[in-house]
Amino acid sequence: MRDKPSFTDEVKAELANVQPARPCCQEAELAALATAFAGVADGAALRLRIPRNAVARKIVHLARTAGGRVDTLQKGSTEKRPSYQLRLTLPQGRGSADACCARAILRGAFLARGVIGNPADAYHLEMALPSGSVLLEAAATRAEVGFRRVSRRGRCVYYLKGADSISRLLRLMGANRAVMRFEHDRILRDMRGQANRRANSETANVDKQMRAALQQSAAIRRLKARDRRLLTLPAALREVAELRSTHPRASLRELADLSQLSRAAVANRLRRLLAVPI
Ligand SMILES: [Zn+2]
Repeated sequence: MRDKPSFTDEVKAELANVQPARPCCQEAELAALATAFAGVADGAALRLRIPRNAVARKIVHLARTAGGRVDTLQKGSTEKRPSYQLRLTLPQGRGSADACCARAILRGAFLARGVIGNPADAYHLEMALPSGSVLLEAAATRAEVGFRRVSRRGRCVYYLKGADSISRLLRLMGANRAVMRFEHDRILRDMRGQANRRANSETANVDKQMRAALQQSAAIRRLKARDRRLLTLPAALREVAELRSTHPRASLRELADLSQLSRAAVANRLRRLLAVPI
């Protein structure tokens, strides 16, 4: 049984089917794919090992339309983790300096080496390239994508954190369905976060009210126990003590309603009651 496809699988399946219309973008995306897989993209034929069928097909298609050459194509031997090997000679051109090609380069690099977290769990996107890529860095600068960069196990990892920047990159690469899924999950996640925060603060408030009520009841019991100390207090305090004793769990609001006093007045009297020396 195959696992449920990850969000990375979904995005790549979508991007593998985005066919750039302009010749400049075809060259640019092909160069980005080759660089990201092989680490270099000079004039020589490159040996690429590609783990995804759809991506291999896209490279073959791009090479044919953009004027490159695919010499050999071979399916890897293991059935479980299929891979595709091909020898690619890139066309002369490497695309233009226009925005369209910057987007094509970002898409190519992501198709080759990208990973994106499930938006319900984490906002993380990265591309772990065999080496730093001038092509990708220049495209990111042109498209105003602020990758951060770190080395990990000999690889150069370009990454983004933050929902806005990831959503924008998906859109730039042309993964429109993925953007919708991303934004949908993002809304759900935000709502869940808000609900949790609200529940926590409500619980904290109730706890606080409960503690105060218990403290007041305890103080009143002590006053009653001590030589009828309560009876010597002003009427206002005796009344509020009686009220609290009768309704030990009531909130301030409820005590105010019962006594037809304002909340502030009830709170004030309870404070004075607590301050009575025993
Ligand atoms: Zn272009």
